[in-house]
Amino acid sequence: MTRMFKIALPDGSVREMPEGSTPADVAAAIGPGLAKAALAARIDGEMRDLNRPFEGDAALSLVTSRDEKDALELIRHDFAHLLAEAVQNLFPGTQITFGPATEDGFYYDFAPASGRGPFTEEDLPGIEDEMRRLIARDEPLVREVWTRDQVRQYFEKSGEAFKAEWVMELPEGEQITMYRTGDWVDLCRGPHLASTGKLDPQAFKLTRVSGAYWRGDPKNPMLSRIYGTAWLNKKQLDAYLVRLEEAAKRDHRKIGQEMDLFHLQPEAQGSVFWHPKGFVIWRELEAYMRRRLDAAGNLEIKTPQLMSAKQWERSGHWGKYRENMFAVPDEVPSTDDEAPILSGDADLLALKPMNCPAHVLVFKQGITSYRDLPVRYVEMGCCHRNEPHGALHGILRVRQFTQDDGHIFVREDQLIEEVREFCELLDSVYRDLGFDSYAIKLALRPDERFGSDAMWDWSEQSLRDAVHAAGRDTPEYGWEELPGEGAFYAPKLEWHLTDAIGRTWQVGTMQTDTVLPERLDASYIGEDGEKHRPVMLHRAILGTFERFIGILIEHYAGKFPLWLAPVQAVVATIVSDADAYAGEVAAKLAAAGIRVEADLRNEKINYKVREHSLAKVPLLLVVGKREADEGTVALRRMDSEDRQQMMSLDDAVAMIAAEAVPPDLR
Ligand SMILES: [Zn+2]
Ligand SMILES: [Zn+2]
Repeated sequence: MTRMFKIALPDGSVREMPEGSTPADVAAAIGPGLAKAALAARIDGEMRDLNRPFEGDAALSLVTSRDEKDALELIRHDFAHLLAEAVQNLFPGTQITFGPATEDGFYYDFAPASGRGPFTEEDLPGIEDEMRRLIARDEPLVREVWTRDQVRQYFEKSGEAFKAEWVMELPEGEQITMYRTGDWVDLCRGPHLASTGKLDPQAFKLTRVSGAYWRGDPKNPMLSRIYGTAWLNKKQLDAYLVRLEEAAKRDHRKIGQEMDLFHLQPEAQGSVFWHPKGFVIWRELEAYMRRRLDAAGNLEIKTPQLMSAKQWERSGHWGKYRENMFAVPDEVPSTDDEAPILSGDADLLALKPMNCPAHVLVFKQGITSYRDLPVRYVEMGCCHRNEPHGALHGILRVRQFTQDDGHIFVREDQLIEEVREFCELLDSVYRDLGFDSYAIKLALRPDERFGSDAMWDWSEQSLRDAVHAAGRDTPEYGWEELPGEGAFYAPKLEWHLTDAIGRTWQVGTMQTDTVLPERLDASYIGEDGEKHRPVMLHRAILGTFERFIGILIEHYAGKFPLWLAPVQAVVATIVSDADAYAGEVAAKLAAAGIRVEADLRNEKINYKVREHSLAKVPLLLVVGKREADEGTVALRRMDSEDRQQMMSLDDAVAMIAAEAVPPDLR
């Protein structure tokens, strides 16, 4: 007699299905519409192929394109396989390696056939055509279970040295899944769609090529990586391509150069050279943050750049984080030609990768009473982290950065109120800086962690309660919990800003930490006269100045609000007769605290207007003979084309000065 399995559906109903049947059969039994729409199945929460038979009683939910996140990941993974198959069809002798789905698509790393160079952008249209041909063939994607030796032998026989090497690192005896489309197979955990025909041939595009080392290690051979983007339909793809184009226009590296804000050069990998105009933005932002932090009861401190490696051992960083730290020998280099420059036996110092331990050391000076808490230290702390060169990106990802870092020492009973206030502060700061939309997420305990379950239960619940008390655990604030994504010592609240073109950027964080106060023996005297451990809150609002200014540049596309604009106004003359008057206008604006330049060049006014508009100067004051005689200016605003406003010089100065006031001082 055939065994029957009980398959529970999301609506609470249960279907009896014979052994050997699949989620696809259930979909077909429910209706032809669902059978067509189903892309994959969740079996007891785990995503699986639609045609993989049930192994017992199970809870089943069918994944369709309405489950956009799952659906996108599935199809991107399918596209990666198609890409690999297409490349091997077109370029025999190419070896395959890995090809994962990414945030907006997929890539695949190939070892081109010997004698052939890496793939180029010219190869991409032909590969796309071949992928479309494979989609049109509507070939089933079939899951097969092989032994490790079968896989190795197969790949060795087919000349796939990389895959053969990789498979031998999987545990012996493990059942390995291979996915087949026609004659082509790849090692893969799956799941996949039932057939290639489920993919929309108009909803993908190969975007670029780059080099990548085999398994990310520079000692290994260089592979050729092809990137693609893939979506559920053409409309989504088109919208994405427009976003990409818009993002390229807003690239902070391009705008940074056009506006003369900063530069980077190889002699200082990942460290920014701020130019006067760029550093003005930094100074304004820093001054704004100082005012907000002072008003919120924070105490600013400054701690050492270099500390003994022994101190970093005590805090645990030397053990866990050393590969990201710059170590410096505590020794004067030899100037004697004969001797080695450094002896190699000096004590080591390390540049700080974070400020936390130093803040505990400040907290530990003197005796703190329970009545003194919370103690809120902040530091515009310059840190260094040794990131691989390949990971660096403009000023968004750097090796030297300045955090708006802070550590709050609280009693357990103060935690919720403290975090609630922090939520309020961030809301106000982000709105002031031009971000009306953001999401708050709570990253929960990871599998590998320090501390007891009781500690984690308490910390997670406290953060939840605090966000609730602030009224922000709602869909409007994108409230979401992220299982497994917390740090190894603490859960973490994250603030994700949405920028002008819909991209999100994680900036603010708040973490509860009981581990570091313990390790570094920080304590306060409680009401009972005994020593107690404070809870340490690590928090940041902007993250780092470098990255946040990069985000601001891209968010505003360089068109900063007046208070942040590097040059706020330019006085431009129409005729040289107005030169003296232009100087007077500029001087009055400067005296009112406005960053102003005068453009007295002998150029047509339209030329000047265009040039300053390209340089993204918010205000242009045009003056000619008439304005000079009458003591007026013609005021033009960036982006308002031809419209200009005539006003008396004094009115203009008063109006501009009022508009340039930072948002917190209005
Ligand atoms: Zn796969
Ligand atoms: Zn910290």
